[in-house]
This record gives sequence, structure tokens and C-alpha cells, in this order.
Amino acid sequence: MGRLENKVAMVTGGASGIGRATAQLLAREGATVVLTDIDTQEGKFVVEGIKAKGGSATFYQQNVVDEDTWKEIIELTVKEFGRLDILVNNAGIAPACPIVDMSLDAWNNLMEVNVDSVFLGTKYAIPAMSASGGGSIINLSSVAGIIGAPGLTAYNATKGAVRLFTKGAAKECAVNQTGIRVNSVHPGIIDTAIWGKMDTSMKENGGVSTLPPGEAGANAPDVDAIAAMSQVPMGHAGKPEEIAAGILFLASDESSHMTGSELIIDGGFTS
Ligand code: NAD
Repeated sequence: MGRLENKVAMVTGGASGIGRATAQLLAREGATVVLTDIDTQEGKFVVEGIKAKGGSATFYQQNVVDEDTWKEIIELTVKEFGRLDILVNNAGIAPACPIVDMSLDAWNNLMEVNVDSVFLGTKYAIPAMSASGGGSIINLSSVAGIIGAPGLTAYNATKGAVRLFTKGAAKECAVNQTGIRVNSVHPGIIDTAIWGKMDTSMKENGGVSTLPPGEAGANAPDVDAIAAMSQVPMGHAGKPEEIAAGILFLASDESSHMTGSELIIDGGFTS
């Protein structure tokens, strides 16, 4: 308890999965949490849950591809809470589709949601964090930002971009003496709703998707089956809370000498 006392943390995509577990944990450790999501109903529900447990949290509706909203929410956060110490760029999507079937529109949409969002968040967080002496930016990449996955090549491209953007931003923030650290987190196969939104046919096709983006997810695939099939050495999917624990470490001053690092939490998948 108290590892983030007096800190203000913004978490995007906080209505579900890893973002939700992260918002809950950061609040438990004393942070004031600004939770954003495109899904207002679930986002508000998570915020109410945090408050009911004595935590401090507030919700803003945000589509992470929209630049004006980023500017507005960060300004509101600083106005209302006096500072911004932590930004978790978590919101993301993972549509599965073979390269030859993927439209340029679907590709560009994925780039916007998974990559433009991280750029925009970092762009507006840097001045806000610098104003109070520094901070910690944590970007959700993936094991898919390190190794390839058939059917997920566009997702690979976005998560690889997040990985290297993080390293460049980390160096830029360090040499400019901003006091801001920037690190990426690389989950393996984690039991969240993202799999249900993906493609149930992956299970039958040895991990290779056959559906175009947006046509997946009537029945959420069994993530443990995918984990086993994908040769996760530990044999099961991770829990969102196990990723949140790594994010908490990067958010806290315990990781004060870490910047530009990639924290892999994958049950041994990439080992
Ligand atoms: P999830 O689907 O459970 O949650 C994602 C959240 O992001 C949702 O609440 C959704 O409404 C929100 N979101 C989506 N598009 C948005 C937009 N344009 N603007 C604002 N919010 C938006 O997914 P998750 O598994 O918790 O994924 C969180 C992050 O972790 C993603 O970046 C994902 O790529 C990454 N990740 C997940 C896994 C996994 O196995 N679950 C593995 C590696 C990386």
C-alpha cells in the first residue's frame, strides 16, 4: 500500500482487461486515477468500484485517436489534480487478418488506435509531467512487438512501433533532462476480452486467423487453449493483474533507473 501516494495517474482503455486491473491497482497504491475509455458505461462502472473501495478516481470519455481530446483531458487533469505523474498508454485493439485479405483502411485504423494514440499521449504528457519535475510513461506493447504471429502481422507492426517509439522517447526525455522515464510492457497471452473481439477461427487453425477484422468474436476463444497451443511454457494464460503488477513497478519510484526498457511478462513465451 502507498507505493504511489500523492501521484496522479492516467490510464487509457481502463474499462476492461489490463487497463481495468491497472487502474484498480494504481488506485489501491494511493494514486489518483484518471481513467479514460471509449466505453463510457464500463469506464464509469470501474471508477465507481474504485471509489467504493476508498480509492480516488475519475472518468473521462476518450477516443485515443483524437488529438483534441488528448489535449483537453491532460489540461483538465492538471487543472483538477494539480499534476500528471503517470501515463499508461494501454488502449488497443487486435484484429486478426491475413495480409492478403487486409484492407488499407483496416491497416490504417489499427495504426491510429495502437500507434497514433501512444504518440499523442506522449506528446501531451511530456510538458504536463515536466512542469512538476518528471513522471513515468508506460506503453503497452506486446510479445507481438518482439516476435511475429501469423494472422496478426498488422498488430505486430503496431506493437513493434510502440516498442521502438518508447526507446526513442525515453532517450529524448532523458537527454532533455525532463525527469520523465518511458518504458514498454510486453504481455504474452493474457485472459481479457480482447481475445473474444479477435477471431474464434484461430483456435481451429493453429493460431492462424481467417476472418477479416470486425467479423470475429461471437464466442470468445478459450485463452488457455490458445496459451497451450502457442507453447506458453507455463501452459496457461496470464491474468490482467499480473500485467498490472509490472506496470505498478514501472509507475513507481522503485524503477527510478529504468527508462527505454521493455518489461516482458509472458509465462516464458518469448524465452
Ligand atoms: P481489452 O479489449 O480487454 O481492453 C481494451 C480497452 O481499450 C477496452 O476497454 C476498449 O474499450 C478500449 N479501447 C479500444 N479502442 C479504444 C479507443 N479508440 N479509444 C479509447 N479506448 C479504446 O484488451 P486488453 O487485453 O486489456 O488489452 C490492453 C492492451 O494490452 C492493448 O494495448 C493490447 O494490445 C495489449 N496486450 C494484450 C494482450 C492480451 O493477451 N490480452 C497481450 C499483449 C498485449
